[in-house]
Amino acid sequence: MSGPIVIVGAGQAGLQIAESLRTEGFDGEVVLLGKERHAPYQRPPLSKAWLAGESADDRLTIRGPDFFATKRIDLRVGVEVARIDAAGRKVFLGDGAALSWSGLALATGARARRPGLPGAELPHVRVLRDFEDAKEISHRLDSARNIVIIGGGFIGLEVAAAARKRGCATVVVEALDRLMARAVTPEISAFFADLHRAHGVELVFGEQVAEISDEGVKTAAGAFFPADLVVLGVGAVANDELGAAGGLDVSRGIVVDDCGRTSAKDIVAAGDCAVLRRADGALRRFESVQYAVEGAKAAAAALLGRSKPFSAAPWFWSDQYDVKLQMAGSSEGHDALIERRSGDKAFSLFYYRQGELVAVDSVNRPGEHLLARRLLDAHLSPDPVLIGDPERDLRLLLR
Ligand SMILES: Cc1cc2nc3c(=O)[nH]c(=O)nc-3n(C[C@H](O)[C@H](O)[C@H](O)COP(=O)(O)OP(=O)(O)OC[C@H]3O[C@@H](n4cnc5c(N)ncnc54)[C@H](O)[C@@H]3O)c2cc1C
Repeated sequence: MSGPIVIVGAGQAGLQIAESLRTEGFDGEVVLLGKERHAPYQRPPLSKAWLAGESADDRLTIRGPDFFATKRIDLRVGVEVARIDAAGRKVFLGDGAALSWSGLALATGARARRPGLPGAELPHVRVLRDFEDAKEISHRLDSARNIVIIGGGFIGLEVAAAARKRGCATVVVEALDRLMARAVTPEISAFFADLHRAHGVELVFGEQVAEISDEGVKTAAGAFFPADLVVLGVGAVANDELGAAGGLDVSRGIVVDDCGRTSAKDIVAAGDCAVLRRADGALRRFESVQYAVEGAKAAAAALLGRSKPFSAAPWFWSDQYDVKLQMAGSSEGHDALIERRSGDKAFSLFYYRQGELVAVDSVNRPGEHLLARRLLDAHLSPDPVLIGDPERDLRLLLR
């Protein structure tokens, strides 16, 4: 392959594509273009330790400046790509300049969803997607007395935990009847509802927000919650516009196969901007560090003509107060649940479907989470009786 490989988006996936091109032995030019003014950084701490004031800015950085020089990765920050030309093999930058490519990777991530609510554009209504958002929320938390979080998903709940640590009266308004409903089972939702209430968070379920004013948040049912800070935590939208305008197949994300290949030759996509077409034709979008990193490795290989599909069981984590939740696999459609408990705030739930282990949620049990990932990746389904026996050393199951 001659000519540079251009990567659009210098986040978790874009950086990994650049790095993996070198690991795969690509010796040519690699250009990594990022709209933000920062070198690639981790987003997860923005709603966790960093927001709680327990982690410094420099802990967010993924790779130091030396890395880019050593790996000969031409990182250009503060550069937005305005358009791609798939047939002419060019990208056009915001200032009109053009760059040619022999391979193109789209890793443009996602943006926070902003519901069309009256008052959603008021200055005290914020979203949390990038470092600038996090700095603004953190700054407002210094003086805020009442915070209302709209959406009881991972980011909303992590912000709630940070806000409580920082002394704010906190209300979470969730339209559904339980927390993190799209991602976790009712058992895990209930555990976290108890946890937040024990920390003084008011949880409001089954209520739609009707409007936001300078004074606070009003629900459709007429309840009013005072707020000097409102955080919208209602999901993210894939940044797939460059792909769509460039003629790529797009469906709420740039459609890719399990190697990150898009519908256009020599163009790959990875991370939050991509949507995976599974073997059964279904489309699945994952917003996780694992998918960004593993999808990026596959996409880098695909740009070099190699097929390295990634098939590991999905995993994710969330930190709320002193609790680390780690999830592996997909519990959808499970018909049996085995609990393995070692304390009030330390347990794992093993989910089975027709006798097959399909997922494990672990609360403050990092060892069991790692083991679960290995079991799931090896398609091993241990006898539920052994799993439920707290005296049994589960590591033996892998031997
Ligand atoms: C607050 C928060 C907490 C999270 N917590 C977790 C967690 O606990 N566990 C977990 O697994 N995942 C978590 N995630 C999700 C995880 O961070 C994302 O899945 C991951 O960052 C996706 O990486 P990405 O490279 O696809 O996108 P991003 O990291 O968003 O990077 C995309 C980059 O592309 C840039 N870009 C977009 N358009 C252009 C353009 N036209 N030109 C140039 N640059 C462009 C963007 O500015 C951005 O910098 C969290 C996310 C957030 C926001």
